[in-house]
Amino acid sequence: MAIRNLRYDNDEILKKRAREIEVIDDKIRELAADMMETMHKYDGLGLAGPQVGVLKRIIVIDLYEEGMQFTLINPEIKKAKGEQIVEEGCLSFPNQFGKVKRPKEVEVEALDIEGRKVRIKAKDLLAQALCHEIDHLNGVLFIDKVEPGTLEYIQPEDKSKNKNS
Ligand SMILES: [Zn+2]
Repeated sequence: MAIRNLRYDNDEILKKRAREIEVIDDKIRELAADMMETMHKYDGLGLAGPQVGVLKRIIVIDLYEEGMQFTLINPEIKKAKGEQIVEEGCLSFPNQFGKVKRPKEVEVEALDIEGRKVRIKAKDLLAQALCHEIDHLNGVLFIDKVEPGTLEYIQPEDKSKNKNS
């Protein structure tokens, strides 16, 4: 496994739509493992392919609780319900945080790393993380959605803020 370089701020790749993954081969498995390791290194809750410069529809999420670690291929939101206003950050915008409106609950269909179809019913933080990462696959960034006037810039050494995704 290896730490991959993160893409930041105005990097064009962050604004592009990522492509479907047709075959889950060793290269994809290696990418998934690297993404998980990279996310952990930077204390993230989630990471999407474009953030490591790979325009493929793959995301990793870890909420650091039992059963809350996911590697998802070609994830799709099938249902969304309710609304929550949440504080959000992003590993690609390490010093910015703001409030974003997200669904309270979502159902997501994807393939796992073995290529099995999975359906995840998520609420609260997991729903937020899934929406944030799936947005990345469509070139949509949290700063595009931030509630007006809530974007804050934090000094890099201030680690007291929320985790990034
Ligand atoms: Zn992000």
